[in-house]
Amino acid sequence: MDDVTAILDQMNPAQREAVSAPQGNMLVLAGAGSGKTRVLVHRIAWLMQAERLSPYAVLAVTFTNKAAREMRTRLEALLGISLRHVWVGTFHSIAHRLLRTHWQDARLPQHFQIIDSDDQLRLIKRLLKDYNIDDERYPPRQVQSFISGCKEEGLRPHQVDAHGDAYLSQMVELYERYQLTCERGGLVDFGELLLRSLELLRDNPALLAHYQERFGHVLVDEFQDTNTLQYAWLKLLTGMRTPMTVVGDDDQSIYGWRGARIENIRRFENEFPDTKLVRLEQNYRSTSVILDAANALIRYNAERMGKELWTAGDHGELISVYGGFNDLDEARYIVDTIRERVGEGINRREIAILYRSNAQSRVIEETLIRQGVPYRIYGGQRFYERLEIKNALAYLRLLLNRDDDASLERVINVPARGIGTRTVETLRNRARQTGDSLWQALHDATSDGSLRGRAVSSLKAFADLIEQLDNEAAGLSLHEIIDRVNERTGLVEHHRNEKGEKGQARVENLEELVTAAKAFTQGETLDGVEAGEGMAALEAFLAEAALNAGEHEADEFEDCVQLMTLHSAKGLEFPVVFMAGVEEGLFPHKMSMEEPGRLEEERRLCYVGMTRAMKKLYFTHAELRRLHGKETFQRPSRFLREVPEGFMEEVRLRGQVSRPVTTSRPSPGLQQNGVEGGADLPSLSLGQRVSHPVFGEGVILNAEGEGERARVQVSFEGEGDKWLVLGFAKLTPL
Ligand code: ATP
Ligand code: MG
Repeated sequence: MDDVTAILDQMNPAQREAVSAPQGNMLVLAGAGSGKTRVLVHRIAWLMQAERLSPYAVLAVTFTNKAAREMRTRLEALLGISLRHVWVGTFHSIAHRLLRTHWQDARLPQHFQIIDSDDQLRLIKRLLKDYNIDDERYPPRQVQSFISGCKEEGLRPHQVDAHGDAYLSQMVELYERYQLTCERGGLVDFGELLLRSLELLRDNPALLAHYQERFGHVLVDEFQDTNTLQYAWLKLLTGMRTPMTVVGDDDQSIYGWRGARIENIRRFENEFPDTKLVRLEQNYRSTSVILDAANALIRYNAERMGKELWTAGDHGELISVYGGFNDLDEARYIVDTIRERVGEGINRREIAILYRSNAQSRVIEETLIRQGVPYRIYGGQRFYERLEIKNALAYLRLLLNRDDDASLERVINVPARGIGTRTVETLRNRARQTGDSLWQALHDATSDGSLRGRAVSSLKAFADLIEQLDNEAAGLSLHEIIDRVNERTGLVEHHRNEKGEKGQARVENLEELVTAAKAFTQGETLDGVEAGEGMAALEAFLAEAALNAGEHEADEFEDCVQLMTLHSAKGLEFPVVFMAGVEEGLFPHKMSMEEPGRLEEERRLCYVGMTRAMKKLYFTHAELRRLHGKETFQRPSRFLREVPEGFMEEVRLRGQVSRPVTTSRPSPGLQQNGVEGGADLPSLSLGQRVSHPVFGEGVILNAEGEGERARVQVSFEGEGDKWLVLGFAKLTPL
């Protein structure tokens, strides 16, 4: 227990100073990979060993539950004792713990339930309906963010001043009703967890005194992403007397869109008494190429607190930049490169693929699956397991089989069409009695008068919708069927109304499903399987989707490639990192391009992504991307121009004519990049117009292979996209 030197081993002087500082308020402000998290963990160990602080007196706040588990494991390794009872967790999990323990004082039922933001939205919609409030004037999403916003600022309905404004008064009233409904049902949303536990402590002086007494030291990681309420909560809990150690990096604040306040870093330094400021300037994570490139990029941001960051590490390999001719080619490059690297002895778990939008994972996932590379999606769901995708698939399954009860139950009231749980319950009972499917029960119940009123018309409308879609599907191709299902069932509209990033991501995923279907019928998805047409194609596609969702799930201990959004990558590190889709409109995201503040946040996100890489970083982008269901030409991201050229090299593949390394290239045409024809075959380039004796005129979209075996994908007017072998196809350049 007395070997305190081990805790200070492998620490530079600044880190050692931070770890072993006398107890008092401390702010560690430092860039990526400088050992902030490591300092936090070692400081806890130091406090317990050198300062004899009881494990019960420590409260440590992490950004994710996984980070909390890791912190605990590392502490146990350092101290050699079990620390199961130490309070390490996220703000939400710690608030939850307080409320569970003191549910009576918090005026909650003992078994209160936590609701996530989807549940919350559903509840708000029901309220609007129950009170006959126009949901166009008061869109549910807006009501939701109003309520969350109030809670984040610590405001209860009676504390919000509407200044006599009618619109605002209505919002406040909705907040009040929402809250009443939650109270009645024993429901607690995420914002409520924090606000409620803040009020619990504030209104119970004895309890507050108990915790202020109990916690001898409070530590917070990723402080730059705390919001107003979390800040207030910390202030209250510590009474500004319990010493705090907070670590953060203003350049890595990436949750401004969710209420995080970078200013909290400055506020902390000014408001908490005698705060000691420690700066860490040595990066231990990345090669100097990666670090210097990231430093150069973040310099484009105007609003910064200013920090230095250097590394004694190797120069390392240059950053590889690959511009695929389309998103499939991009994915293929990533997966081929991964297989090469794994062949050289790198573990798959040491490789991460990061992307800006969830929907980007689909093409990459499918390429990984096809090539048999195990992967896991970190902090998110695999494409075919996402809520909106499961909903769309449920409709599609109903088209094929009305008796699929699980699918029917899943979507009968999604989006909301006035079919309540009681009605569904009635159908379920009836089906149980007669032994029929729910679909049959629905028909019987609507025709024999056992159900009445609005329920009947809603159920009939639902059944008609399915029948109509089925009729129309006959003449459509697979992707058209899916597109129509997305639109006509109201799924797209439903998520579009959600506003915000989450709704946007769901709409993008639905569009991505259409793209997946298109690729599927063109035989790109499953080698050697005939996709067929219409309903047959749909059946094959659904089988494929089910397989993608289930079979290939890597088990937890399997060595697999890590996929995640840039946001979920915060705090992590990997020897090899791919950043995919580095294109204008995708990253920086189009929703952020107009506002300078948001653009800076995107740049910080890019900085976070780059600084995850230890040894090797790849940027990939595609020139043609099927996005939101249609193909668009994409320009490389401005972030690629902001990284000085000397740090990057452009990848050239065999069989392609590459362009020279340049980051300030003019609008990227496809012409510089294509297939060489070989002996007596025509030399063709992407984007080129060609003519075919049977299919007529078209444009080259895609190309692979070399010489005789080279294949090109041509988009023919009227005939659609086709893959043709160059040696046979008799294409004439136009
Ligand atoms: P981020 O800003 O990304 O959260 P961070 O500042 O929290 O990064 P850590 O994750 O704590 O940085 O450390 C980055 C890496 O450097 C880790 O692998 C850590 O073990 C290593 N490291 C930190 N300090 C030292 C040191 N003094 N000697 C050797 N390795 C170190
Ligand atoms: Mg960290």
